[in-house]
Amino acid sequence: MRQEAEAFDLLPSSEPSLGWRESRIWCNHCGSTYLRGIFAPLPDGGINFRLRCPHCSPDTDVDFVDTSGYVQLNQIHTFRPALKRVVHHFHPYYRAGLFSGQHPSFCCGWPVKPCIVHADAMPFRVMPHHYYVMQRCPCCGESPNSSALSVAAFGHPIIAEFRAEHPRWIALPDHMTEYQGQSAIQFHLADRVSAATCTYYAHAQTLQVLAVFCA
Ligand SMILES: [Zn+2]
Ligand SMILES: [Zn+2]
Repeated sequence: MRQEAEAFDLLPSSEPSLGWRESRIWCNHCGSTYLRGIFAPLPDGGINFRLRCPHCSPDTDVDFVDTSGYVQLNQIHTFRPALKRVVHHFHPYYRAGLFSGQHPSFCCGWPVKPCIVHADAMPFRVMPHHYYVMQRCPCCGESPNSSALSVAAFGHPIIAEFRAEHPRWIALPDHMTEYQGQSAIQFHLADRVSAATCTYYAHAQTLQVLAVFCA
């Protein structure tokens, strides 16, 4: 299938092709295609697991996943389990750090404060209109990040059910707002192939989910 796509010049020319394979994970920004992924060996023996969208990534030059070797993926050679490993590596860690205000950094263990930053203020390229959780280590400067909408959703049964039932959900822009008198970020997911939507509000500092509305 990949060879066919290349033969017919269906892939954007700026998209790296060597070793990339199509996953069965929908892009949650355009909802129109599967992500493509790679397990790229790093010089230190680690693995860089990356996922990109052939539509969204070339325009924005954003990888939706780029572990840069932070996550141990030994024995995992398929995309969905690898993605699950990544989510379980970063999200509880960020949630705990946001809740307590500080945690040891990924890279060197130096105490850092995770923060929630809008795409416009991020120091590197991310998808626009969304909030991200990041840390900047004063020791080595490393700053991995995760989207706030997925950190907030982590472990929430209703949001998980919506995403499982509507795998072609797309993330509409996030909004800083209030919910019942508290500063909150509103996240809005919409199924690309039906009218189903899921809107949730998460605390603006801890990303604890305050309310979920599915329609
Ligand atoms: Zn896309
Ligand atoms: Zn560090």
